[in-house]
Amino acid sequence: MNVIFDKLMGYIAASSALASGIVGQCWLCGQQGQRQCGCCQTCFTDLPRPPPRNLRPLDCPDYCHTWLAAMYYQPPVEGWVRQFKFHAQPMLCRSYAILVAAQVLAYHRQQRIPLPDYIVPVPMAFGRWQARGYNQAELLAQQLSLLLGIPWKSILALQGAKQNASARQHQLSRAQRMANMNGAYRTTMQIDSGHWVIVDDIITTGATLTSAAETLIASGADQVSGWALAYTPAESSL
Ligand SMILES: [Zn+2]
Repeated sequence: MNVIFDKLMGYIAASSALASGIVGQCWLCGQQGQRQCGCCQTCFTDLPRPPPRNLRPLDCPDYCHTWLAAMYYQPPVEGWVRQFKFHAQPMLCRSYAILVAAQVLAYHRQQRIPLPDYIVPVPMAFGRWQARGYNQAELLAQQLSLLLGIPWKSILALQGAKQNASARQHQLSRAQRMANMNGAYRTTMQIDSGHWVIVDDIITTGATLTSAAETLIASGADQVSGWALAYTPAESSL
């Protein structure tokens, strides 16, 4: 299994090196120079990156067993992610996907467990998609699929009555978020089996991951994990 991980790690490193060969403005400090994943070397080294471990709190339901994230959602990452979501910068997904893929490979190699079988992005309400022009979770999922060689399938949809549920999430407590997202999703096809990984931009309470994972398991998935660009511990959002 390590041969596969070594090959993938080499590919990720090559992608990163390709990205680092680009001279331009650092996304974070604005300095001109060589960039790595869109950042200058100083900003890249200072990125708040958690160790490659399962970030799911033990008191959170384990439908979505493993949570992995590339960075903590704190300055300067907050501003960087806002550029991706709210300032029409979809191309940032290429830099972000490298960071997430490196974290995923480190964790799976360390734990000696195979990578998931399928990637599924968290869906976005149609109205928000229309306004933004893209679903950032889907862009990340596509890039991760390319980097890791795992097929991605857009098989989750928001239930009609929950179209606006995710939009209000940031204003709610953890318990409210869990209740709000309960039953929020449906699958658009039956799943036979397999290990599915849900991709989102930010994990906070895990309400979205838990609800989506419960739906996938009810539809036939054997196991579900969650990957995100950034993680913010739930306490800070209560
Ligand atoms: Zn910089």
